Amino acid sequence: KQRDPNQPEFQEAVFNFLATITPVLEQHPAYIAASILERLTEPERAIQFQVAWQDDQGRMQVNRGFRVQFNSAIGPYKGGLRLHPSVNLSIIKFLGFEQVFKNSLTGLPIGGAKGGSDFDPKGKSDAEIMRFCQSFMIELQKYIGPDLDVPAGDIGVGGREIGYLYGMYKRLRESDRGVLTGKGLSYGGSLARTEATGFGLLYYLEEMLKHNDQTLAGKRLLVSGAGNVAIYAIQKAQELGATVISASDSTGYVIQEAGIDVAKLKQIKEIKRGRMSDYANAAPGAEYHEGSLWDAAVKADIALPCATQNEISGEQAQRLIDAGVIAVAEGANMPSTPAAIAAYQQAGLMFGPAKAANAGGVAVSELEMSQNSRRQADSFATVDAELKEIMQAIFHKSVAAAKAYGLGEDYDAGANIAGFTKVADAMLAQGW
Ligand code: NDP
Repeated sequence: KQRDPNQPEFQEAVFNFLATITPVLEQHPAYIAASILERLTEPERAIQFQVAWQDDQGRMQVNRGFRVQFNSAIGPYKGGLRLHPSVNLSIIKFLGFEQVFKNSLTGLPIGGAKGGSDFDPKGKSDAEIMRFCQSFMIELQKYIGPDLDVPAGDIGVGGREIGYLYGMYKRLRESDRGVLTGKGLSYGGSLARTEATGFGLLYYLEEMLKHNDQTLAGKRLLVSGAGNVAIYAIQKAQELGATVISASDSTGYVIQEAGIDVAKLKQIKEIKRGRMSDYANAAPGAEYHEGSLWDAAVKADIALPCATQNEISGEQAQRLIDAGVIAVAEGANMPSTPAAIAAYQQAGLMFGPAKAANAGGVAVSELEMSQNSRRQADSFATVDAELKEIMQAIFHKSVAAAKAYGLGEDYDAGANIAGFTKVADAMLAQGW
């Protein structure tokens, strides 16, 4: 707190984490002796840079760019880039910190990083997005590389932005090796990467329900967000027999009793880049409301927050519990506030934390890196099957770690412990 007094999101992520790993520290004094916690909470490198770009009126605009390379103990840095006006050092550090343990949980050899800019892509033309991405990459390319740091997408960064970033990287570095993941299929992208985080969330949820003698079929789900994670979570949930009755964006949400029409949602959000109000106008039976989905007291069985950090307060969590929710799995990063998590735990909900439940995106990103190194492209079925296996393994690793430290069915603590011990052991083995 003293060192980073103005970084509330970073502090929240670190405190949530530290609160759950105390039993490990008590049993392993070597971690304390080697100052593992001090080293883990300080990024190995934090880069901040200027991004100047020209808008369509010919004016020069200036944004702030970031890349925080948090920890490379188990492999090259890996983590997304976020473009959103709220981006600052605190948000990028919280995301980078979480990424370290998420990447460790996947079982794949990747360290943790995150980056982005306070640039707001909303309302910008394609040409403006391209000029911004090109300028961003002119600086970022100094710090990344296929064996050093491989960024991907996050909020505001999808296939279009990755394409512009990758194109500029190649012009500057004369290399076509996969230095970014989430690329288009015609130039090195992996099948199933677009779907990976949402599909992976559902594979994790299915496993958590199965472990608790429940199934997804017939359940009513609340999903927030209408971006990459939310869309493919909704699609997979409906394929598995559940009904998803909501989707949202930062202005409002839709309730649709018969279930969200995924094809229509994709058309409005991915192609037209429209709002949820446009979806409601186009989808019969969809009711549009302004404000937060989590304020709607709608009866549901499962909640999947897939929009952004701190979207569910303690009070809103209680509303979900009162509405009959029995499980929460996080598609977004840190969407539940500490008060919300406390409410879930007090009510005995099944709770799948972000670093475990949404790890499918980065897992398939690593599979994309591996395909690029081999210069081969795996089929959708192969990647999807690997994704499912990884998500099931993450759930069971978390259960086993919680059990090993006498923490019962605390999947949050289990995920933190399993992610942490692998990284800490690698740091110990590599010396001071
Ligand atoms: P997108 O940009 O595709 O979509 C984000 C969605 O969330 C949009 O519907 C957006 O609405 C909404 N949203 C963003 N900020 C807010 C806010 N402050 N309040 C309410 N709604 C908001 O991003 P992704 O789907 O990729 O990412 C969503 C979450 O998932 C993030 O937390 C991200 O870190 C996490 N994540 C993403 C992964 C990926 O592979 N993409 C991997 C793992 C985690 P609007 O359009 O109005 O802004």
